Amino acid sequence: MTQLVMGKSVTYEHTLPELNPSYRLLLGPGPCNVDPRILRIASAPQLGHIDPEFFGILEETAQLLRWVFQTKNEMTLCVSGSGFSGAEAVLCNLLEEGDTLIAGSLGFFSGQIVEISQRAGARVITLETELGKPLAPEVLEQAFRDHPEARIFATAIAETSTGLWQPLEELERITHAHGALFVVDAVCGLGGVPMNIDEMRIDACYAGSQKSLGALPGLAPVTLNERAVQVIQHRKRLVQSYYLDLLKLNRYWNGDHAYHHTACSNLVYAMREALRITLEEGLETRWARHQLHGEALRAGIKAMGLDILTQPGYELPVLTAVSLREGIDEVAIRKGLLEEYNIEIGGGFGALKGRLIRIGLMGYNSCRKNVDTVLAALEHVLPRCGFTPKAGAALAAADAVYSA
Ligand SMILES: *Cc1c(COP(=O)(O)O)cnc(C)c1O
Repeated sequence: MTQLVMGKSVTYEHTLPELNPSYRLLLGPGPCNVDPRILRIASAPQLGHIDPEFFGILEETAQLLRWVFQTKNEMTLCVSGSGFSGAEAVLCNLLEEGDTLIAGSLGFFSGQIVEISQRAGARVITLETELGKPLAPEVLEQAFRDHPEARIFATAIAETSTGLWQPLEELERITHAHGALFVVDAVCGLGGVPMNIDEMRIDACYAGSQKSLGALPGLAPVTLNERAVQVIQHRKRLVQSYYLDLLKLNRYWNGDHAYHHTACSNLVYAMREALRITLEEGLETRWARHQLHGEALRAGIKAMGLDILTQPGYELPVLTAVSLREGIDEVAIRKGLLEEYNIEIGGGFGALKGRLIRIGLMGYNSCRKNVDTVLAALEHVLPRCGFTPKAGAALAAADAVYSA
């Protein structure tokens, strides 16, 4: 094909074919496959970001977000970006140069609270746990005694790198007893594990769209209560980031909708649909569904003769972390599942690299079909990866959970 480009004739070898991406079953740590209803609505006609019709959709979406967060917080909105953009928005708006923050670093994801806060100018006290184990309340109590100037404690409810479900009750009590703000990363947790922002007295929370909430990537729901909003309003200096300025974002979402940046209407439609699906299902039913399928998957994994990394009693239903003994090849397992079954799962991060596989059952993907599919595929692939599971044991163990 020959074209004129700035007066010169340029010849291209060929035109590009249309993309035809593979159909993958996304059983990693997110994104997960979304309900077909969501892909359908995402291809509806675009609206401009300052179209009055779109404002109605924004308001409705914010209202649905308040419901899924179980909060009355006025400042509830989506940041245009993935989960970490929500983290950055919440932390950068709450922190000023020289502030002290205590970080409950439970693994890779909540571990990023440390760097994000340091980059925002904070002094960070890092409380690291052994991977797969929860943060003990005494450790936080001691940290507050040693650093009474700490203004924020931040951690995650669902640590996706180790499959840990962190209990928050005691940590909240200690944080508030010391007059600090309680900030929670719920990127993986929201929509998958029981959460009630107001009852759990969480001052600020950021979440993700593409994990347990079951929407498309690209939006990060955040919610901040009056106390957290006051902190932002009384800042000595403006938030360094124009793009992530929560007061401006809140004005766009929940105020007079003054232009701040170009929000993507189609991603908002997708979020609204994911929330509508959650509303139809009911929060309690949705949490119970994740609980059931997570339990069945763990039972199957254990029946094969593999071990769960996470301390018993603290396993997330939405993400199962399977530790691999010496000699079992993580890369080969993931390659086998992807190439032969079109199934994506996750591997290990940092110290767990090569020693872990992570299987996500989030949102639309949390169902029996996927549990049985991934167990059967693993049973087939594992013998070539350095481990021979007990034949047929996995599906039988999962079935026992379903039949109970
Ligand atoms: C996935 C995840 C993040 C990061 O989200 P992105 O959408 O990849 O930016 C942060 N925290 C937790 C707990 C996560 O699971």
